[in-house]
Amino acid sequence: MGEFELIRQIFEPVARSVTHPDLRLGIGDDCAIQQIGPGRELVFSVDTLVEGVHFPADYDPRHLATRALGVAVSDLAAMGADPVCYTLALTLPEARRHWLEAFAESLASASDDFRIALAGGDTTRGPLTLTLQVHGTVPAGQALRRSGAAPGDLIVVSGSLGDAAGALACLEQPSPTLAQEHLLARYHRPLPRLALGTALRGLATSAIDVSDGLLADVAHLAQASGCRADLDAASIPLSWSLREVCGEQALSHALSGGDDYELCFTLPPRHWQSLQAAVDVPLARVGEMVAGQGVQVHNDGTSIASGIGGYDHFGAQGD
Ligand code: ADP
Ligand code: MG
Repeated sequence: MGEFELIRQIFEPVARSVTHPDLRLGIGDDCAIQQIGPGRELVFSVDTLVEGVHFPADYDPRHLATRALGVAVSDLAAMGADPVCYTLALTLPEARRHWLEAFAESLASASDDFRIALAGGDTTRGPLTLTLQVHGTVPAGQALRRSGAAPGDLIVVSGSLGDAAGALACLEQPSPTLAQEHLLARYHRPLPRLALGTALRGLATSAIDVSDGLLADVAHLAQASGCRADLDAASIPLSWSLREVCGEQALSHALSGGDDYELCFTLPPRHWQSLQAAVDVPLARVGEMVAGQGVQVHNDGTSIASGIGGYDHFGAQGD
C-alpha cells in the first residue's frame, strides 16, 4: 500500500467515523482547522510512543491504538478539558494491510469512546513510532494545573493504582487468570478520567494524571504548588486483582509503578462530600498537603519513604 492509498483507505474512514462540531476541516488539506468557541481556551499536548520503549515489540495493533490514544487523552482529562480532535504521526517499518486494518478499527472505537475526532497526521517509514497531538478546550481560566495546592488540601486519587505495573509480568502469559486479565486490560486500554476531570473544574486546586507512579506524580504536584505531600500508605486504593496477582508487591506497584492513568488531585476538604456525590468514580483520600517540600509516605505512623523533589525519572527507567 502506498502512502496516499494508506491515508485514504485506512485513516479517512477513522476520521469519518467520529466527528466533532469544533473540527471545521479534517484530513485532506495541508492543515486541519479547529474553531475555538468564545470564552474557551485551547488545551493541547503531544505524546510519542516508541516500540520497545513504551510498548512491547510485536504488540497487538488493537492494543497499540487503545493504549496510544488513552495515554494521550489522559493529559486532557488531567487538565479538566473536553476533547475535540487529535493528529497522528505514524512511522511504520512496512505497510501491512492486516496490521493497519486492526489498528484503524481499534483507533476508531477508542476515538468514539473518548468523543475525539481524528483531524490529520503524517505517515512515514521507519522504526514503529506513534506521535499523537491531542486538542481539547476548557472555559477560559478553568484548566486544572499542577500548581495551586495549599496546606490543608486533601490528596485524592481515582480508581485503583498499580494495576498496569502488575500487568507487566503477565504480558506474555498464554492463558491469563481472570485477575491477570483485569490487570492486562488496564495496561492495554487505559481509560482517561474525562468526566472526573471536567467535574473537578473550580473545585480541585491542582491535578495530574498518574503516568509515572503515584510517588513521582504527587511529587510534581507538591513541587509545582510549593507544598509537601503526606501520603498514608494504608489508604492507597489497591484492586482485588492486583492483590491476588502481586500479593505483597501490590503496594510498591501502586506507589512506584506507572501507566495507570488515574487522576491525582488536591481538594479543599469542604468540597469532599459534594464531589463524591457529583461523580460516578471511586475516589480515595490518600493524604494531605502540608507546609514544606517533597513527599512523605506514612504507614501506621512510621515514615516508610520520603524524598524532596526526588522520584524524578531521569534514572534507569526514565522516558
Ligand atoms: P502534507 O504533505 O501537506 O503534509 P500529507 O500528504 O502528509 O500532507 O497528508 C495528506 C493529508 O492526510 C493531510 O490532511 C494529513 O493530515 C493526512 N494524514 C497523513 N497521514 C495521516 C495519518 N497517519 N493519520 C491521519 N491523517 C493523516
Ligand atoms: Mg502540506
